Amino acid sequence: STEEPWRPFNSSRVYMADLESTLHYSLRVELSAHPVIRGQALRALKMYISVLVKYFPGRPIVMNLLKAVNSWLKQSSSEVSYEELSAILDNTAQSPDTALPDGVRWVACQSSQPHLRRYPCGVWTLFHVLTVQAYNNHSTDPEEVLSAMRNYVHSFFGCRQCAEHFENMARESILEVNTLMSAVMWLWSRHNRVNNRLAGALSEDPNFPKIQWPSPDMCPSCHTVKPNGDHRWNNDRVFPFLLSFFSSSSILPDYLE
Ligand code: FAD
Repeated sequence: STEEPWRPFNSSRVYMADLESTLHYSLRVELSAHPVIRGQALRALKMYISVLVKYFPGRPIVMNLLKAVNSWLKQSSSEVSYEELSAILDNTAQSPDTALPDGVRWVACQSSQPHLRRYPCGVWTLFHVLTVQAYNNHSTDPEEVLSAMRNYVHSFFGCRQCAEHFENMARESILEVNTLMSAVMWLWSRHNRVNNRLAGALSEDPNFPKIQWPSPDMCPSCHTVKPNGDHRWNNDRVFPFLLSFFSSSSILPDYLE
């Protein structure tokens, strides 16, 4: 791949360019590995797009494209071909106010090597943002976003081993999620479990070590030390931290086309 110049970024912020890159990769690359989508996979795709239409805090032009995909899927029959879907995703086939930038432009998900970070980093970021948006929008279904993520990952996520790990975690404890707040917290804590398992693994970018996130630097009050010296999360502080970190109003528009 061609070397792109490094884009300076603030590692305690979320960038819309990462989220749009994630959507581009998910819809135009990952899904294209599925020439025909039916059954459970079609249900997963419909849930994913419907959750994006409801909660993705995107630019109007991108939201219009997601809405176009959503209405097309709603009137689809029992199976769709990727070829038909890609026609809806084609920027030139839509009106000028309907488009998703072509190609990726990673910012906070940049990596030193092509096989590190990038899309999987974007997927985590996207779903953290969506759980927070569902909370802020008083969704009536606490499990809606996590179910959409679970089913998307199960049916489509290219890293099959990751999908299997994630499905195991979901099967184990997703039923505990019964409020919008616990959905935000569930995803944060499972992501930390994954970080813990992957710390020091080959998939770790040495420039972005896996940590129990947020670090004490980012949120001092999120961390407490018990009298016996053990670490304990201060969930009362973690939750507002997540709400602010992933809130739509703090997403930066830098590097957008
Ligand atoms: P990521 O873990 O991708 O995190 C992205 C950003 O989210 C971080 O830069 C940080 O800003 C923020 N963040 C970090 N931790 C948290 C947290 N706890 N809560 C909220 N925000 C946080 N890789 C494997 O090798 N094996 C696996 O089994 C595996 N399973 C995966 C399952 C899923 C569902 C996904 C989406 C990815 C999985 N991956 C797996 C990939 C792996 O988790 C990382 O995404 C990848 O290694 C890139 O890491 P990263 O440094 O960019 O940070």
